[in-house]
Amino acid sequence: MSKFFVSGGGTATVGLLMLWALWFSTPRFPVPWENARVPEEISTAFITIPISNCSSNTTIIHHDPTNTTGYFSYDDPDNATFYDDPDLGYTLESPINDWDQKRQVWLNHHPSLAAGVGDRIFVLTGSQPWACKNPIGDHFLLRLFKNKVDYCRIHGYDLYYSDAFMQPKMTTFWAKLPVVRATMVAHPEAEWIWWVDSDAVITDIDFKFPLEKYKEHNLVVDGWPNLIYENRSWIGLNAGVFLIRNCQWSLDFIRVWANMGPMGPDYKKWGQILKQTLKDKSYPDSDDQSALIYLLLEQKESWANRIYIENKYALSGFWGGLVDSFENITKGIEEIEKGDKRLSRRHAEKVRERYGRLKEEVYVKAGITRRPFVTHFTGCQPCSGEHPSYSDEACWGGMKKALDFADDQVVRGFGFRRIDDRNGSEILQPLPPPPANASA
Ligand code: MN
Repeated sequence: MSKFFVSGGGTATVGLLMLWALWFSTPRFPVPWENARVPEEISTAFITIPISNCSSNTTIIHHDPTNTTGYFSYDDPDNATFYDDPDLGYTLESPINDWDQKRQVWLNHHPSLAAGVGDRIFVLTGSQPWACKNPIGDHFLLRLFKNKVDYCRIHGYDLYYSDAFMQPKMTTFWAKLPVVRATMVAHPEAEWIWWVDSDAVITDIDFKFPLEKYKEHNLVVDGWPNLIYENRSWIGLNAGVFLIRNCQWSLDFIRVWANMGPMGPDYKKWGQILKQTLKDKSYPDSDDQSALIYLLLEQKESWANRIYIENKYALSGFWGGLVDSFENITKGIEEIEKGDKRLSRRHAEKVRERYGRLKEEVYVKAGITRRPFVTHFTGCQPCSGEHPSYSDEACWGGMKKALDFADDQVVRGFGFRRIDDRNGSEILQPLPPPPANASA
């Protein structure tokens, strides 16, 4: 930009300077049109733009900080809750008893947060504390994070990104358990915690969890019961994406589960036991996924009836079979939406969920391939770049396809679509206005 300030004077420079000032900041030089009537027109060498002072036609209601009943007012009354107990800890080493009752007391004192608690999901993700070895790894992590931010903004979910270990011994895939535990205590207003690995892409931005289906369950994981119980396979489920209820059962379960990891006294022994139990496990150490399957197999009576093994939709879809379907899914959806007035109607992003529900109905009726909810890049390792089983092209190319597919769904709410020019760069193309003749 600075070259515009130093290049020769003249109308073109002034025009660019004005345009720049309008785009990027409040102009710092005296503005001749400040007191003029609105709308007013400024002529530059290139364009004519009407200027509005933005306040003449809008009534802005400001939040009243003394209002203790409103949605934005999260006061904390003086009544004692579990937070005032000096023995309470956020770590896995400090067990909590009577959590359901303690949480209920807290909710009773916070009625504005207790309202709607049953549907409240808190989203957790994260990555290692250091820079990525792979030169494009941090760029991928940023896009993978943006993908979760987009999903959470659209559905009104809170999100925490963990980039530090909450338990020094619980690193790699074990690192999530201390974070999930601390989040349950830090967010009693959340009924569910959704852990999503950094290498998982949300590829159906409109999808919402069918929570009603899980009312008798406390943990939801993607998997196949026959692979778990008959084949005793360590890939019978995927532990990188799961939904867990904020309740006493979950605290107890996570404690038992985490104890099989590096923080537990028998970590070495667990590596051997898991290898003996799950015949196809090649990794010698105890890992969280094998440990979870072990608990389902060997402590079935204690845990299995509260664990839902989901395979009716892609809670953790394996990327290999999915990434090549995205282009056709987008085309199919565009065709359907073009002819449907309700679906092609433009709307604010805040009310997008309504259109998500409509789309679901229409897509099901039309029989189009469902967008996978989550495309998980298991075995790809975006940060380290180490994926001995797959080529760079498969992993990076696949991840880029999934991220572009998801982002295309998001930018449509901003009036654009993503066009891949096939030379490696993406362009956002303005969406045409909805067709006037589409059927209602
Ligand atoms: Mn993963």
